Amino acid sequence: MTLHYVIPLVFPPSSFFTIPMLTEITKEEVISRLRNAGISPSGPRIAVFHFLCNNHIHPTVDTIFHALSPENPTLSRTTVYNTLKLLLAKKLIQSVKIEDTEVRFDGNPAFHAHFKCRQCDCIIDLFDVPCPAIPQSEDFQIELPQVNFYGICRNCQQKLKA
Ligand SMILES: [Zn+2]
Ligand SMILES: [Zn+2]
Repeated sequence: MTLHYVIPLVFPPSSFFTIPMLTEITKEEVISRLRNAGISPSGPRIAVFHFLCNNHIHPTVDTIFHALSPENPTLSRTTVYNTLKLLLAKKLIQSVKIEDTEVRFDGNPAFHAHFKCRQCDCIIDLFDVPCPAIPQSEDFQIELPQVNFYGICRNCQQKLKA
């Protein structure tokens, strides 16, 4: 007789906020990803994509512009915006529409869940939370699959307690 054990699917609270080991994506890797997607690697494109691949903060256009402009004085907000549009069209990045009032950007184009802190506005990746399969149908085309959670992050919980 064989005994079957059902292993419950449990997410311990700590694993909810697991930040995976992230290795730095080099400029060379960024250039080769751009080339593979058929994008010619101009200075601004390399800068914007490199920033998104290495800063997992889900920045807005403005955040990216302010972060890059000291080292790229000729960079304009419009160039950042147009570069993001191109990277989105080539599915190298994804947009995160967690609020109606802002669009944030993510260097990881794979579908994953997000948590937004309503205190400090940080957005955290929840890679341990399973996302539903994206339905394929001729009746509709999915453009923006999102799994979003809202709450208070660990830092803010500690600040609120203090
Ligand atoms: Zn917070
Ligand atoms: Zn993300």
